[in-house]
Amino acid sequence: MMTSFSSSKVNIDFETDSKDFLNKECPFCEVSLELIKVELPLFQHFGFIDLGENGVIGRCPRCQLLVNILDFSQQKKIDAIYESSDYAQGQITNQTYFVKDINKRVTRSYLQAEILKGYLSNTNTTKILDIGCFDGELLRELSDRVPEAQFHGFDVNEYLKPLFPEQKNFTFWSSGLENIKEKFDLICLSCSMMYIKDMHGLFKHIQRLIKPEGKLFIQMPDMSMNPYSLLLADQYFYFTPCILKNILSQNGFDCTFIENDCFPRDVVVISKLTDRHRASPPKEDLNIYQIIQYLREQKEKLEAISDESNIGVLGTTVTAAFVDGILGDKNLFFVDENVNRTESSFRGKKVVHPKSMDRSEKLILPYGPSNKSIKERFLSEFNLNNFEELR
Ligand SMILES: [Zn+2]
Repeated sequence: MMTSFSSSKVNIDFETDSKDFLNKECPFCEVSLELIKVELPLFQHFGFIDLGENGVIGRCPRCQLLVNILDFSQQKKIDAIYESSDYAQGQITNQTYFVKDINKRVTRSYLQAEILKGYLSNTNTTKILDIGCFDGELLRELSDRVPEAQFHGFDVNEYLKPLFPEQKNFTFWSSGLENIKEKFDLICLSCSMMYIKDMHGLFKHIQRLIKPEGKLFIQMPDMSMNPYSLLLADQYFYFTPCILKNILSQNGFDCTFIENDCFPRDVVVISKLTDRHRASPPKEDLNIYQIIQYLREQKEKLEAISDESNIGVLGTTVTAAFVDGILGDKNLFFVDENVNRTESSFRGKKVVHPKSMDRSEKLILPYGPSNKSIKERFLSEFNLNNFEELR
């Protein structure tokens, strides 16, 4: 497992009296979860709004699945967000990636379609289902590559239907997966699996909906590559490559990791049904303990920063939200090179382009060793001289 954390297991005390637990068992193994306290600032992924500091993660001692322990009212609140019209209008898919080979910025869906086109044939019997399809952008990208295929999108948010493509080979579903009766050559779960509460039910449906030789594509944040993703507390589950492989194996699927340079912080997998009897036993994954320890250390470092200069934070992601959550009023602004974000606000504070920063202002670079290139570029391009790195 690739990880930059120390390998020692950290003991985290836990008291059960403060929380109303509903999901104490692993949805797959039916064994009790080991409960781990997360006393760190938590956020909603939509808008990066604060969700308190009283998180609890349940870890399955068998398949290693990490479950966000939420009480009924928290679950209801989360469901209401995903099903809201605001969420449908939120344009969460407009993040772009710069690709050297083609020398331009493209969307996540474009890059995914480039990976997936090799698994599809351009015929009208080819059927594709995207679970958590949002506005259908991935299906639209796929239809540019295999225009004869049939495209089905499923999303619990019915306000997405007007945004979904209207061509005759596109179908939008927003009521339950049980209403879909077709069989698919490709089922996609693009950054959606960790938001699906009934993971057990999800796999039952996928087993029913996939053709015997069909492929299952999964992409999701890899917690071991981006520890801050643990702080996104409106998801039901957290994954590493090892945990995903265990879950797939348990449900009768093999697991091929797709090596790619575009999504270094995600798990990207192509999977297909396999002979259950050959399922390998689950492998242990203790990343969660190292990640919590790492985040606590970052918190302590941030608490030690003095406020003698005006402070800003690089980025407008969960990592920047974490720094802001710890620094509070000490942090005055965010810095982002993406022009769409500048002259806007993030968590109620202004977002500025690095060019318009004053040299006396201090910039927090919270991205550690994996983003050394960002620091070097900022030093040369924007004459950055007052900065503090979190490693
Ligand atoms: Zn389990």
